[in-house]
Amino acid sequence: MTGSDVHHEPTLPLPRIAVIGRQNVGKSTLVNRLFGRRETISHDLPGVTRDRVEVEAAWRGRRFSLVDTAGYLRTAQGVEALARAQADRAIEQADLILLVVDAQAGITEEDGALAKRLRGATVPVLVAANKVDTDREEADAAAFHSLGLGEPFAVSAMHGRSAGDLLDRIVQLLPDAPRETATTAVEPRFALVGRPNVGKSSLFNRLAGQDRSVVFEEAGTTRDAVDALVEWPDGPVRFVDTAGMRRATKLRGVEYYSVVRATQAIGRADVALLLLDAEQGYTVEDKKIANVVIGEGRALMLVANKWDLVEDKDDTYAALVQTARQFASAPVMRTSAKTGRGVHRLPPALLDLRERWTSRVPTSKVNEVVQQAQRERPTPRSAGTLHYATQVATSPPSFVIFGGAREPDPAYRRYIENRLRRTFRLEGVPVRVTYRPRKRRGGTSR
Ligand code: GDP
Repeated sequence: MTGSDVHHEPTLPLPRIAVIGRQNVGKSTLVNRLFGRRETISHDLPGVTRDRVEVEAAWRGRRFSLVDTAGYLRTAQGVEALARAQADRAIEQADLILLVVDAQAGITEEDGALAKRLRGATVPVLVAANKVDTDREEADAAAFHSLGLGEPFAVSAMHGRSAGDLLDRIVQLLPDAPRETATTAVEPRFALVGRPNVGKSSLFNRLAGQDRSVVFEEAGTTRDAVDALVEWPDGPVRFVDTAGMRRATKLRGVEYYSVVRATQAIGRADVALLLLDAEQGYTVEDKKIANVVIGEGRALMLVANKWDLVEDKDDTYAALVQTARQFASAPVMRTSAKTGRGVHRLPPALLDLRERWTSRVPTSKVNEVVQQAQRERPTPRSAGTLHYATQVATSPPSFVIFGGAREPDPAYRRYIENRLRRTFRLEGVPVRVTYRPRKRRGGTSR
């Protein structure tokens, strides 16, 4: 990709990197080395706010922007305050933070203050230990492990040492698009799906029916799909494709209605409420839909409707919960759309589930969980130790785990996934985990 190609593309929002660190650690030299003339597309984008300068850059075809978060620091007083302001600013504005430290100088008070703040960051943080000009100094770089931000990258801005490795890691961790900010956020979107006659329309009427403020809106994407915008006390929510929900199945058959159409609705939603007939339990079709929800990366809530008809309530509930474990341990709610029982629990549970689907976890916490999991159950010997883990995206939460000689076996991957799910309350939320084994010695490191 050449500079001019990039220049003429429409300016889509790019993921943002903030490079921070105290003075004299070699930030500018490193920035030039990493994103230097050839790779940097040298024009300044006027930032959204006056005090932000963004420079566009690219590596291996991935484009991103570098944000300069230094400008606004002049007001901060004292080392602690300065560090805090710098870190906060980066956390607020960037999708990835590169903390530059000086390996020759060792850990300073300011490095410590920055790291302390960054350990709570919910975006990936990488540590570049600069001025490692020779192999002998690699040990100095390793000392920065104690900052609690994962394994430091030993680099030399002067000689270009390991710059390629660091850039590779950066682009691996970058999300495709910048984080959603408050201004781009839309109302929570729910899809009510399930087989015919399980009670979808009845439940929808309970959730919205009496409310005069329901607004129906054509979705535009799917022909004849009509969304319902419902005012809840916490704000408006959207039920996607209510028409699809009501439409008789006879037209095109059960399969089309409940799977194909549901899939379209699920694709436009944050959370899918999969309605089951509680008396019947999971049918093959219900499982199919549940798998679509998880496959599409949407959060899943299982709603066992017609609960009023269930006789052996304890056993039925236990069986439903047991099977839910194969669907991201989705919560199982019990309702009767007929009597209205249990329905009031759905709105808060749905909003909570949606919140967790969009959640971010600080890198230090992710690392802690993965390290603790390995202490309790070591990875198979041939797979090797997992070194560094971080969340790289949300909606659904996606994690990248580095280290080891190869990806662990499926059983171990499930173990890690369940651990992350349990610790971060991600029940009902699909969790994506990508493994990036260590490169073999003698591999590329340009
Ligand atoms: P949909 O096809 O999924 O939209 O299902 P409907 O909402 O049209 O409901 C199908 C039938 O089940 C209707 O006769 C409803 O009265 C009945 N129904 C819905 N929910 C319940 C419930 O919780 N308990 C009982 N006993 N019947 C219900």
